[in-house]
Amino acid sequence: MSLIVQKFGGTSVRDTERLFNVARIIADTYDQGHDVVVVVSAQGDTTDDLIEKAHEITDRPDEREMDALLATGEQISAALLTMALKKLGYRAISLTGWQAGFLTDANHGKARVRRINKERIENELDKKNIVVVTGFQGLNRYDDITTLGRGGSDTSAVALAAVLKAKRCQIFTDVPGVYTADPRLVKNAIKLDEITYDEMLELASLGAQVLHNRSVEMAKKYNVKLEVLSSLERVPGTVVKEVCKMEKMLIKGVAKDDNVARISLVGLPDRPGVAFKVFSVMASHNINVDIILQSVGREDTKDITFTVARKDCAEAVQALEEIAPSLGIKKITADENITKVSIVGAGMESNPGVAARMFEALGEANINIHMISTSEIKISVLIDKELGEKAVLAIHRAFFDEV
Ligand code: ADP
Ligand code: ASP
Ligand code: MG
Repeated sequence: MSLIVQKFGGTSVRDTERLFNVARIIADTYDQGHDVVVVVSAQGDTTDDLIEKAHEITDRPDEREMDALLATGEQISAALLTMALKKLGYRAISLTGWQAGFLTDANHGKARVRRINKERIENELDKKNIVVVTGFQGLNRYDDITTLGRGGSDTSAVALAAVLKAKRCQIFTDVPGVYTADPRLVKNAIKLDEITYDEMLELASLGAQVLHNRSVEMAKKYNVKLEVLSSLERVPGTVVKEVCKMEKMLIKGVAKDDNVARISLVGLPDRPGVAFKVFSVMASHNINVDIILQSVGREDTKDITFTVARKDCAEAVQALEEIAPSLGIKKITADENITKVSIVGAGMESNPGVAARMFEALGEANINIHMISTSEIKISVLIDKELGEKAVLAIHRAFFDEV
């Protein structure tokens, strides 16, 4: 018999009515003869509310206690959904991340799944139970609760699908699939029937929150057949796979990421080893650096500008201020009033002119580009934050209006 993993996000389980709606989807899958393992997120805005509560107590909550707190959100939805399934007459059991065998590394708030001991889940499946697992959480080697980072329930689901060798991993959410842009922002965004792991990974990493980027990384690594679909409408969704059939689409989507900050270092000495020192300090603070721009040297000095996640900005500046005197950095500035807009698509590899078309759309919309970064299948630009939505709409129009 085949096993299917189904994951339901916060909006899909936000209240009793939605919980029963989800229970019926699961029950239908079970009735078709499948074993079903379910992963749930916390209901509605629960995670945000819990974060707020913690900040009412302290500005800097202890990270271990924060994980202990946030993990409770998923426990509520797992227990309630299991009650709903039982009420409909099905055999079901809820398991927390640790009961389900999730072992992670020790990084509170952004832990990675190291291993899943699947015995308990397999025992419950043998008893014909539908197994409802709390997403987003596990235990580290000190037996402390860890969470996988915002949106991490997608990764819990894919990890389970990988170890249980599921036939499919279905990510049910509040939109019917992956679109050419956030359908809430771009009304005529187009639903994609399929997308490659690489394209989806870029889109997810560049701000399309529909899938947690690590879930896509893991799906690709373990060849998990991933599907994104709506829990509210029973229509076909988007399949994420290794290769897509030949198609005309030059790009697959436009994404926006507001979670960026730009740091500029002015007047660095123009000599070997300086960039190494700057970025090794960032690395030692576990801060990811994204787009990097170095100016042409002048009078023995140069400038370096780069972006980091907004949450890391204050720490990055503080760390750089500490090395500024010894390195000879004259000035450090940080700007959080920016956003990153990107296009993604394997089609751009073999088609010249994609960047020009993107820049033309921005130029016509009178949007100035501060920084540019490219890879084989993506182009990102950094622009003023207040122009972000306008940029997404203009770029989407340029690529998709005549499709
Ligand atoms: P869940 O709670 O189910 O995990 P999320 O809020 O994390 O749902 O992700 C779904 C949301 O992602 C959608 O409501 C949509 O606004 C947003 N989104 C952003 N970009 C895209 C895209 N390209 N395609 C589909 N949805 C997108
Ligand atoms: N509840 C967590 C969050 O809101 C995890 C998830 O929903 O995937 O980020
Ligand atoms: Mg999500």
